[in-house]
Amino acid sequence: MSPTEQSADVVLPGGTIGIVGGGQLGRMFALEARRMGYRVAVLDPAADAPAAQVADEHVHASFSDPAAMRALADRSDVVTLEWENADVATLRDIERIVPIRPGPGVLEVAQHRVREKDTARALGILTAGYRAVSTRDELREALREIGSPAVLKTARWGYDGKGQAVIRDPSDSDSAFDAVTGGREDGPAELILEEWVRFTLEVSVVCARTVRDEVACFPVAENVHRNAVLDVSIVPARIPARVADEARRVAETMARGLGVVGLLAVEMFVGHDGHVRMNEIAPRPHNSGHYTLEACPVSQFEQQLRAVCGLPLGSTELLRPAAMANLMGEHAGTALGRAGAAEALGVPMTALHLYGKAQARPGRKMGHLTSLGDTAEEAMERVLRARGLLSAGG
Ligand code: AMP
Repeated sequence: MSPTEQSADVVLPGGTIGIVGGGQLGRMFALEARRMGYRVAVLDPAADAPAAQVADEHVHASFSDPAAMRALADRSDVVTLEWENADVATLRDIERIVPIRPGPGVLEVAQHRVREKDTARALGILTAGYRAVSTRDELREALREIGSPAVLKTARWGYDGKGQAVIRDPSDSDSAFDAVTGGREDGPAELILEEWVRFTLEVSVVCARTVRDEVACFPVAENVHRNAVLDVSIVPARIPARVADEARRVAETMARGLGVVGLLAVEMFVGHDGHVRMNEIAPRPHNSGHYTLEACPVSQFEQQLRAVCGLPLGSTELLRPAAMANLMGEHAGTALGRAGAAEALGVPMTALHLYGKAQARPGRKMGHLTSLGDTAEEAMERVLRARGLLSAGG
């Protein structure tokens, strides 16, 4: 791009990127942004938030504090996010001061499972059958329509399988309602009942889109979950090329349909019929896209930066098959000071990422490992071996 073609939409190195949320996604984004000469300001309520540790500035305040959001906007040339549950009204307010990418309208959809699926269907994308549910009676009615097994989920604030109950038989209806609402009856609940999808695989695609409608999707990741939390991603996904094309088309259609500027991660099921069904979207980098740091010319974090700064998108080519394994609290605690880390790094083509979290808890994402290989299977064998060595070697 020549200087004369640059518009006010472009933020060049030297500019400041504001990021809402200071977790590991923000940390990896901040490290990439600083590598490229940008300044980074992070809004997060935790004093030692993973991203705040590596940012230039930390707005240390609650996400619901409008003054803090304004302080972030005042410091930034563009604001992006790594956490999609920010307050939409507050973001609309600061949109007058600074571009927010992706915009509050995208968040409004991504914060609500019913809106996500309504949007997908309106764009001609398959989803599991679903009904919005707010009372016990509506749940019984929806169960008659959808059938069982089915899964009841909170429409908002759900992640990693939290706020979900599987209904195997209509007689489970009341106990599932109690489980996801916590037994509270202080007004209508915001729930979704979904048909139980019998899938062969879960996959995801991270897609980037710029203000100029340039779109680029990373290769499809095959995701293995443990207790509804991502455990391992394998790339390329072991699916026929036609299914991979369909998965990328779904992600691209959602990104364009929503007018995303930045990243959109789309989680999908591959059904026994060979078609993909959209499950969930996240307008930010995604755990299943961490492999891009080692396996692609441009990582998902650099791509987010390029997209929100109005720069050309980078190549999403897969240079080598890759596998990523999460390190949870139960694997190796904080992983700091562990001899097993040295053993894990002896596994060929293996990289270690730790997120700077001082407290380990079971189920808490402390870091991840990525291995490359000549095949997806070799990469997976390496990354699981590395994780085993890290966990076992005290
Ligand atoms: P979610 O929070 O929607 O990503 O759900 C967490 C995990 O639960 C998914 O990764 C699936 O393994 C499983 N799951 C969620 N919804 C369904 C569904 N409708 N049918 C089958 N499995 C599901």
